[in-house]
Amino acid sequence: MQSVTLPTSLDEAVAALGAMPAAVPVAGGTDLMAAVNKGLLRPSGLVGLGRISELRGWHYQDGHALLGAGLTHARMGRPDFAALIPALAASARAAGPPQIRNAGTLGGNIVTSAPTGDSLPVLAALEAELVIAGPEGGRREIPVSHLLAGRELLEPAELIGFVRVPLLHAPQVFLKATGRTGPGRATASVAIVLDPARRGVRCAVGAIAPMPLRPLEAEQWIASLIDWDGDRGLAPDALAAFGEYVAAACIPDHAPPADGSEAPPLSPAVLHLRRTVAALARRALGRALS
Ligand SMILES: Cc1cc2nc3c(=O)[nH]c(=O)nc-3n(C[C@H](O)[C@H](O)[C@H](O)COP(=O)(O)OP(=O)(O)OC[C@H]3O[C@@H](n4cnc5c(N)ncnc54)[C@H](O)[C@@H]3O)c2cc1C
Repeated sequence: MQSVTLPTSLDEAVAALGAMPAAVPVAGGTDLMAAVNKGLLRPSGLVGLGRISELRGWHYQDGHALLGAGLTHARMGRPDFAALIPALAASARAAGPPQIRNAGTLGGNIVTSAPTGDSLPVLAALEAELVIAGPEGGRREIPVSHLLAGRELLEPAELIGFVRVPLLHAPQVFLKATGRTGPGRATASVAIVLDPARRGVRCAVGAIAPMPLRPLEAEQWIASLIDWDGDRGLAPDALAAFGEYVAAACIPDHAPPADGSEAPPLSPAVLHLRRTVAALARRALGRALS
């Protein structure tokens, strides 16, 4: 490693990256140092983001929260944050063991874009936007889904500064299934966000595909069944049907072959995953509406 720079502002960090094109930014280092230790990455320099205090908190703007990319999972899991964005707090509490949550950040989770990134389905359901900082004080905004889908990328010397999230003042739930008990990577996860002002239910399913999936038809169908001006309750069979709808949309049957014969059945492992997604979606919506 040639050099380590520790800027104290976002623009200084962008300038440091511009001056050292082969350097990489590092926040908590939980993903980056794992890649270095495995020999997958040999950066010639590091620009540490840990001293940039503006990235470690949040502020409010036009009914939204602008979350600093340097917010740790531990900070997002605390009660004051949970009162603002409950599903993001729940995903932060589920993101690995305590030492990882103390160091790992929101920005690192997004840039790594692992299918198992716990914040990602929540950000997809919230339709969050990224505020990207570039050279000479430049700022641009893109939907988080564009970065996750690879439709737009970070340019050299650009950093995620903030994540713009709407404050919906309504229940939100994040549920995660893991392959074992205790902290672990998700085998499937579901985020449900209610948006009463727009009479909407937004749902995203994580970990089962390279990026979170949005079952848009299932969202619209269930939103049309909810009595938004009444008690917002739903019968158990409607919740179960929603779970099945979400799961079948995200894990569809095989298409029938061109010769008109029957489609092959899904494998037992895929059927198990589909049942897991159905159960998570049913429970998450039930909790959001209870
Ligand atoms: C044992 C273990 C368990 C884990 N369990 C989970 C889990 O259950 N759920 C989960 O979601 N994750 C888990 N993780 C993954 C990891 O902790 C998270 O993805 C974390 O949020 C990464 O954040 P970081 O600050 O450590 O990122 P870093 O490692 O510092 O950086 C990751 C990448 O993001 C880039 N980057 C960081 N910040 C910025 C920025 N502001 N702008 C542009 N680029 C940036 C870096 O250059 C690097 O490419 C686990 C990791 C470990 C080692």
